[in-house]
Amino acid sequence: MHRLPPAVAWGGLAVMLLAGYWAGYKLNLDPAELPIWWPPAGIILAGFLRRPPREWWALAAIFALAAVLAYMTAGRPPALAVALALSAVAAGFIAATIFRRLAHDPRGLGDVPTLMALLIATAADAALTATGLAAAFAYFFGAAFWQVWGMGSTALALGILLITPVFLTWDRNFFADATNSDIAESVALMLGTIALSLVVFINIIWSHGLPLPAMYVLLLLFVWAALRRTAFEATNVVLAASLIAIWGTTLGLGPALTQAGTPADHVLSLQAFLAVAAIVTLFLAVEATERRRSELAVREQEAHLRSIFETVPDAVITIDEHGIVESYSKAAARLFGYDEAEIVGRNVSMLMPPYYRERHDGYIARYLATGERRIIGIGRVVVGQRKDGTTFPMELAIGELRTNRRRSFTGFVRDISERQQTERRLQDLHSELIHVARVSAMGQMASALAHELNQPLTAVANYLQAGRRMLQAGDERGPQRAAEMMEKAAGQATRAGQIIRRLREFLAKGRTERTAENVNRVVEEAVALAQVGTRELGAKISFDFAEDLPQILIDRIQIQQVVLNLVRNAVEAMAQSSRREITITTARSGGEEVEIAVADSGPGIADEIAAQLFQPFVTTKEKGMGVGLSISRSIVEGHGGRLWASTNDGGGVTFHFTVSAAPSPPRDGEQHGA
Ligand code: ADP
Repeated sequence: MHRLPPAVAWGGLAVMLLAGYWAGYKLNLDPAELPIWWPPAGIILAGFLRRPPREWWALAAIFALAAVLAYMTAGRPPALAVALALSAVAAGFIAATIFRRLAHDPRGLGDVPTLMALLIATAADAALTATGLAAAFAYFFGAAFWQVWGMGSTALALGILLITPVFLTWDRNFFADATNSDIAESVALMLGTIALSLVVFINIIWSHGLPLPAMYVLLLLFVWAALRRTAFEATNVVLAASLIAIWGTTLGLGPALTQAGTPADHVLSLQAFLAVAAIVTLFLAVEATERRRSELAVREQEAHLRSIFETVPDAVITIDEHGIVESYSKAAARLFGYDEAEIVGRNVSMLMPPYYRERHDGYIARYLATGERRIIGIGRVVVGQRKDGTTFPMELAIGELRTNRRRSFTGFVRDISERQQTERRLQDLHSELIHVARVSAMGQMASALAHELNQPLTAVANYLQAGRRMLQAGDERGPQRAAEMMEKAAGQATRAGQIIRRLREFLAKGRTERTAENVNRVVEEAVALAQVGTRELGAKISFDFAEDLPQILIDRIQIQQVVLNLVRNAVEAMAQSSRREITITTARSGGEEVEIAVADSGPGIADEIAAQLFQPFVTTKEKGMGVGLSISRSIVEGHGGRLWASTNDGGGVTFHFTVSAAPSPPRDGEQHGA
């Protein structure tokens, strides 16, 4: 809502002031019937509300002076003229004060509560001021109190209701935003109202005057303006019709005067009609404006969201509870290679590798049924599939929107295959560190082992040598003593074995944290990470995960390091291949073990290194360190599993490793838990 420009405010007020006095002068009615009563109060109210206080005081002073002069010109005694002018100013003051107290934003008629505040202020003001006026008239002129009260309050109420809203609903945007057809409609509306008012109130067509109900035809135009146009226009057409109606009445024309009764009765019924018309129109107009404004707000919000959607660097995809895509951002189109038209209305699972494609509906259904969150609100690294079939690692966060009608999910996808070199470098550093730590640990272990084993092994050698000498000596007790020596040698050998076992146990204990993990999830995440920085090699990765695998007890980071190594090796091995496919399989193996396999379609292991594949520093790559497989094997063996390679029938290699399942928790705990 904008403030009225001062020039318009002053100009409008002056015109209304003059019109009011001119009408009153022409009417020359008894003061009790004066419809000129209403413009001053309405004007003052409007001026008070929309203009700064200093202007208002100037306005009130000018008005009071003009009113005194006008009343005196109309033949009223000076005392009465002053009293009338002051009471009109007071009326404007009272109404303005009440309205400002009740309305939360008195600077406009923006909503129904503000309109209600105006109506209450109007009614209270009309009643109060009319009481004072009627008392004065009864005292000075011996007029009938209730007659004056009725005329005065109706006139005053109408004045406020007709004029105040014109100022309160003023909106500069109307002129800024209006299209040509809007303006044409407004002009037609105003001209139609004026024409119809002239017919109804000035009898320009039928000189005998129209029946009273003819006035109600005008209501249709008011309703039209209220519903289709702005509140400002609606209040203007009502004001225009009212001015013409009053003019007609002063000329003794119009439907009101075709009825029997005194002029005072006619004025009263005309004013009552106009007041009702004004209130109805205002209600409709304010309602319609409010509705239009909230529609506009919704549309603006939609446009706002849309623009966020278009520009957000992450891919954003929303789906309904059946997995059907509802919207798909520009970034998503760039990331996955599908256009919006190819995706919207179809199942989001087409953006996933086949293994997940088949299960995604089930995931949603399970979530809807159980409410158990595995990814919503948590976020994970998963594998996405582009239109060309290649896969890539992505960080996926999912938000849920629940209204009482339906649910939908929003996925935020960030491609992490392109993350900067630094990240890759960090990972390389990480694996080098693991390697260095292991080499030094192995060195320490070897020297300790040498030291510890030296004694029993020397003893074994000594005993055996002594035994042999005894047998060679040919002594008759020789065989028996040789047997004793061998027994002692065996004892020392057992001790050496114990030392080795103890060392192994010690090493096993010194491990990092082991936790029970879901194999498939651990592997998927590692595969996703393995693709970081390998986009240019673009391999197609598919999954073949067994369901219902037992959990595995592992150091997650280490096992993921193994998977990452194997996948990286596979991707690198296939750099020159025309077919680049990797299949990751998880399966139950033997009794309590899980086997994870990474198969590629590359050239296979080079012959010259096949024999020492798992030894450190064996590599065929220019920049290779040759430690990946050896570290992987020691990690896997540290977990009590095995790592080996096999040749595929269709070419390429498969690396397999096993990890033992976590012991299942005791039944008791399960039953009493939670
Ligand atoms: P690096 O990758 O640094 O060479 P690794 O120990 O991981 O060290 O691998 C050793 C060698 O094993 C590689 O240089 C490569 O020749 C061979 N290799 C590993 N994985 C594969 C594979 N999937 N296909 C063919 N050769 C492989």
